[in-house]
Order: sequence, then C-alpha cells, then structure tokens
Amino acid sequence: MQKSGRLSTDSQKLLEHCGIKINLQQQRLLAFAENMPIDIMRVRDDDIPGLVMDGVVDLGIIGENVLEEELLNRRAQGEDPRYFILRRLDFGACRLSLALPLDEPFTGPQCLQGKRIATSYPHLLKQYLDKLGINFKSCLLNGSVEVAPRAGLADAICDLVSTGATLEANGLREVEVIYRSKACLIQSDVELPPAKQALIDKLMIRIQGVIQARESKYIMLHAPTERLDDIVALLPGAERPTILPLAGDKQRVAMHMVSSETLFWETMENLKALGASSILVLPIEKMME
Ligand code: ATP
Ligand code: MG
Repeated sequence: MQKSGRLSTDSQKLLEHCGIKINLQQQRLLAFAENMPIDIMRVRDDDIPGLVMDGVVDLGIIGENVLEEELLNRRAQGEDPRYFILRRLDFGACRLSLALPLDEPFTGPQCLQGKRIATSYPHLLKQYLDKLGINFKSCLLNGSVEVAPRAGLADAICDLVSTGATLEANGLREVEVIYRSKACLIQSDVELPPAKQALIDKLMIRIQGVIQARESKYIMLHAPTERLDDIVALLPGAERPTILPLAGDKQRVAMHMVSSETLFWETMENLKALGASSILVLPIEKMME
C-alpha cells in the first residue's frame, strides 16, 4: 500500500475494518499484522503496480490511473504484464483531465493538435489523443504539472483533478476528462499456495462486507399500516422490511430495513408526507450476506 499520500489513510482503514491489526511504525517499510499471517509493504504508489506485476508482493492497493499507466508503459516496452483486478474500492476517486490556461480558446480536443502538453501520465494521454488522431508533444513532469503553462514549458496540461481548486489557483480550466479513476485491489498472477489463496478469498469477503456496510444504512420508522408499500417504494434497496407491532397502536407499525443507498433529506421529507414518523437512519458497522 501507499506509504504516505492520498491513498494511505483509506487503505489502512480498509484493512483495519477487515479486522487486520497492523502495527504501523511511521518510518518502516514493512509492517506485520498482529492477528493474521499478512505482511504489509509501504512504498510510493508508483512502485505498487510493478511490485504486483513482478510477483514481489501478492496484493496491492493502487489508483487505477497509476495501474493503467504502468500497464501501458510496460506494453510499450514489449512486456505483457499480468495481474488480476480483484475489486474496485470506494475511495481515491479522481479524474485525469486536460486543462488549458483560462484565456486559451477551446472548442474541442482538435484545438490541441501539435501542442505541448505537460503530464505525469504520458501513456494514458497518448492512448486518448491517438484515438482522436491528434498529434501532440508530451512534456513529462512528475510533480507540479499545473505550473508548466505559466513557466512556458507547455501549452496545456493533463493532470489529476478532484475538486478543480488547484487548477483554478493556477489560472487553468478543465476542458476534457480523459480517464476516471478509483483505488482498486489487485493480485499478482503468480499461483499461490492454497492456504494463501484461501486467506485472500476470506479477505475479499470481508472487504465486500466493509464496503457494502459503508454504502448502506439501517432505517427505522413508524408507519401507517395502509401506507407500507408506498413507504418501501421510496427507499432504495430496502426490499423486505421487518414489521413490528407498536404497543397500544393498531393503526401503525414499526418498520426496520437496510437501505443500500444514502438517505437524503428529501426522501425523509417524502416519508414524513406519507405519514411516517420517528424516522431514524443509522450507520452499519459490518455486513455479511
Ligand atoms: P507517492 O509519494 O506515493 O508517489 P503521489 O504524490 O504520487 O504519492 P498522491 O498525491 O498521494 O500520489 O495520490 C495518490 C493517488 O490518489 C493518485 O494516483 C490517485 O489515484 C488518487 N487521488 C485521489 N484524488 C486525487 C487528487 N485530487 N489528486 C491526485 N490524486 C488523487
Ligand atoms: Mg506517486
């Protein structure tokens, strides 16, 4: 996993929520799980795809952007790297976008014909612009890509964006998204001893449970008996609610259910309009189907 950066806290939390107790010492490259036979290697994110592709480690947590760039890079060098994507994760969302100085006109990617574009993702950029038949010169920068136009190094940039604040602060505007990324869990192609594979399978079920729980809510409410179907229809992913009698009230019941989506205020207001009351939305800690 990434040692320190945008993926490290979420990666660590995911493992913790899966019940893996890791004793992380800040500066150490290797850490050990206290309660499972798992060793954690913490490196720069750029090194993770290669470590998995070369079979040095069994699993990696990495942004799809970095993974795909390394795949294209190795293919360009005549290699045929192999790995499995086990699962897309629920963090690390960002997009790789083209951005231009605010005063540059943009009517479509054709405007980039023959331009110099600064990026840390030359292969993803080339793959995208090649498909559109656009020639460009790439200027490879491994950091501070956003300053390249002002420094006179490039006419445009292709960089990661999540809110757009960095672009704005540098007088740039996003004109085209070329790749959408999230973190993912990958496994090396090396055949593993059955016990190790069984541990990975177990981990996958736990990860599924953790992510599903994070995306779900436990909902409790009181509802008029005759409006039960209308109320269930308003709740995404809540198929079969538990119905419980309310002491001393024959017209209404208590409903308990798991909803697979976040419940917005609007939905709660609509529930209330249907006669629901005492609506509680609770987080779920763990789930297993
Ligand atoms: P390292 O020192 O490990 O090489 P880094 O500086 O290359 O770190 P980070 O900035 O920590 O990388 O980003 C790691 C990953 O987080 C990115 O490759 C991307 O997948 C994801 N990410 C999510 N949001 C953003 C964002 N706003 N900007 C950049 N990366 C983001
Ligand atoms: Mg990096």
